[in-house]
Amino acid sequence: MEQVPRIQKENMKQQIYWHTTAQMPDDSNLTPLPEKVDVVVIGGGYTGLSAARTLAKSGANVALLEANTIGWGASSRNGGMVLTGLKLPMQTVIKKYGRDVARQLFQCSLDSIDTVEEIVKEENIDCGFARYGHLLTANKPKHYDALKEEVEFMDREFNHKVTLVAPNEQRTEIGSDIYHGALLDEVSGGLNPAQYVSGLARAAGKAGATLHARARVTSLEPRGNRFVIQTERGSLQAESVLVGTSGYTGNVTKKLQRKVIPIGSFIIATERLSDELAHKLSPNNRMIFDFKHYLNYFRLWDNRMVFGGRAAFFPETANTIARSAEILRREMIQVYPQLKDAKVEYVWGGTLDFAFDQMTHVGEVDGIHYSLGYAGHGVAMATYLGKTVAEAMIKGNIKEHPFASFDFPGAPLGLYDGFPWFLPFAGMWHKVLDWVE
Ligand SMILES: Cc1cc2nc3c(=O)[nH]c(=O)nc-3n(C[C@H](O)[C@H](O)[C@H](O)COP(=O)(O)OP(=O)(O)OC[C@H]3O[C@@H](n4cnc5c(N)ncnc54)[C@H](O)[C@@H]3O)c2cc1C
Repeated sequence: MEQVPRIQKENMKQQIYWHTTAQMPDDSNLTPLPEKVDVVVIGGGYTGLSAARTLAKSGANVALLEANTIGWGASSRNGGMVLTGLKLPMQTVIKKYGRDVARQLFQCSLDSIDTVEEIVKEENIDCGFARYGHLLTANKPKHYDALKEEVEFMDREFNHKVTLVAPNEQRTEIGSDIYHGALLDEVSGGLNPAQYVSGLARAAGKAGATLHARARVTSLEPRGNRFVIQTERGSLQAESVLVGTSGYTGNVTKKLQRKVIPIGSFIIATERLSDELAHKLSPNNRMIFDFKHYLNYFRLWDNRMVFGGRAAFFPETANTIARSAEILRREMIQVYPQLKDAKVEYVWGGTLDFAFDQMTHVGEVDGIHYSLGYAGHGVAMATYLGKTVAEAMIKGNIKEHPFASFDFPGAPLGLYDGFPWFLPFAGMWHKVLDWVE
């Protein structure tokens, strides 16, 4: 392979590009915590904010507690892809849980995109949401054969229409020749994640929820029929608690922490490209990701190529981010040699939450509600589950939620205490799978 010159570091900032495009909620006006509320929501991302909005709209007195600033987590750092389906292929979901459950879950994924669309419209959130469609590209000819089957399978099992993009027509969808065709799903959408999460925060506040930044929860204890919640800024009591801490789940909710693996994901954004070049790279502005286990995902925003991947498995640190920038740029140039001279201006990382079965889970443990395990598929799903788990809390019927209908497994043999020591091995294993599959 041709040598790619290293990134010119003076042009590149370790900064979340999306934050430069949005008025992010800040921590300059910290209000005191209330003494007692009906519900405490832990985590100020899509899950927590969407739940807080729904609960407050129903008349509940809600306090949302966020350790950092509102929207600080994955919700302002992601690729902004609003996708159909789940992390696991639907064929696997049918095999594991049967046709009825799989159909319910797939329908939830479609409803989740409608939910984002409705909230954006109702709350007037200016975040560029549109149904751009997603493109799943085949890295090998045999992947394209699998995509052919997928088109037929999705129609037969879910009455969901997706189409094939043949290798010789690929240039109508993507300005790259490295793929062997693709699958197009026009129901999926895209948005600017930071603009969306700040709009969602505004909406939750408007509904009557109080949002408390710099209020890391340090302990959570039942007392009678209430919970006492200690934070870095004092304590409060609540009748119910919802945990939406995703990849940042800590030992305050130890039982949940032991079921969620934090995994890093990283993104670079190039300088602004010319209209002509941007159009050639992605003529229809699709949300694009490839077939690999160690996958790449990319899309345009404001003529910048925003290109992500699991370049390091461990969560974001200055080190993993710097290494990821070089790796992602190399991968981007493999896909798009046209970007060889494009400056990479931003690089950042965030943490995903994977359950051991790669499924999303909602439910109740020790009387505490949770929604976790989005596995990089949470823009739409976290919004939707925040809303529907909140509705279930109001009705007291979380056990009937479709995402509560299967087990939330822990590590095999209990070999996990919250520190993901096995990630380097998982990373190597994914590389091997990409090589052979
Ligand atoms: C780089 C990257 C790219 C991604 N791309 C996509 C994509 O394109 N499409 C897609 O669908 N999904 C994507 N995802 C996944 C998606 O962003 C997440 O699934 C979603 O944002 C999860 O939302 P959340 O509200 O549950 O968690 P988060 O937004 O992560 O929020 C959790 C919050 O909990 C807070 N917290 C943790 N512990 C405590 C405590 N003790 N007290 C108070 N607060 C606490 C944290 O500070 C954090 O702000 C991506 C994720 C990353 C990291």
